[in-house]
Amino acid sequence: MNEPTPAASRAAKQPAISFEFFPPKTEEMEKSLWETINRLAPLTPSFVSVTYGAGGSTRERTHSTIARILKETELLPAAHLTCVGAARGEIDDIVARYHEIGVRHIVALRGDPPGGIGTPFFTHPDGYQTSSELVAAIKKRFPDVEVSVSAYPEKHPESPSFDADIDTLRAKVDAGATRAITQVFFDNDLYFRFLDRVRARGIEIPIVPGIMPMHNFKQARAFVTRAGTTVPEWLAEKFNGLDDDAETRKLVAATVAAGQVQKLNKHGVDTFHFYTMNRADLVFAICHLLGIRPASVQKAA
Ligand code: FAD
Repeated sequence: MNEPTPAASRAAKQPAISFEFFPPKTEEMEKSLWETINRLAPLTPSFVSVTYGAGGSTRERTHSTIARILKETELLPAAHLTCVGAARGEIDDIVARYHEIGVRHIVALRGDPPGGIGTPFFTHPDGYQTSSELVAAIKKRFPDVEVSVSAYPEKHPESPSFDADIDTLRAKVDAGATRAITQVFFDNDLYFRFLDRVRARGIEIPIVPGIMPMHNFKQARAFVTRAGTTVPEWLAEKFNGLDDDAETRKLVAATVAAGQVQKLNKHGVDTFHFYTMNRADLVFAICHLLGIRPASVQKAA
């Protein structure tokens, strides 16, 4: 659970972690993803998730990445799935295919508007219209599949209010979701305020913070801002003057993200989901600072 716990019981406990990857587009990207997976796997995450994009080829790549993780590693994969651009029957088939190969965890999402963030949202006329409909359909057909969903500490940009946003979360939980993973955030107070609102509404599932180390600050800032995440001025200032200095940027990014997770951990948060951007180095270092060691090191100790 992501609730503050007494310091004594926390001290002995290692945080639980999960990693998110995106499906590679090229052979070179695939090679780099597998180096990342092999580097991070010994940290024994609870699960690793693979995102789902628009368009058939991207979707096929999610499936093949998940299938390879199942075949070649001990990791438990979670497949992301959205309601966008497909009829219910097609989505049901995707879920059934995942189930058949052994996937038992789906991250169920509404998805972004087909025209991109900021354009009007619509789904396929015969498609699932909301994320909670998708969650309910998965749980009805496959009760043994665990379903995670999204949550937005700064509220979703399309949402008129926090209350409306939490209504959506409530509907997803009522439909059978048992974990929410948050959109990336950089101000921990936003997360704790959101957690208070969620708990006040009687929602008890874990709300796992989504942590994104900023490998390339400028690129990442543009990306997360579009998705509704505030990038505080103090954070921009830390990367100021480093546009041509990738090495220092990397050290700063690791320090910032490590500071964020350590502060969350100090306040009792014991589960973290890392947006790895398919890179291992910063995430590995941050996990190390959280006290997480590769399985072989744990055994030897
Ligand atoms: P929901 O939780 O269903 O809705 C979010 C909010 O939007 C609601 O609170 C509601 O207030 C508002 N809303 C929803 N529908 C409407 C509507 N029709 N009109 C007005 N307001 C509405 N995207 C991908 O394409 N692929 C991925 O793999 C992926 N993975 C993600 C993983 C995580 C952990 C997160 C946080 C996001 C991910 N996304 C992904 C992004 C996500 O698809 C977008 O943020 C999308 O815009 C909302 O999907 P959702 O399931 O979060 O929406």
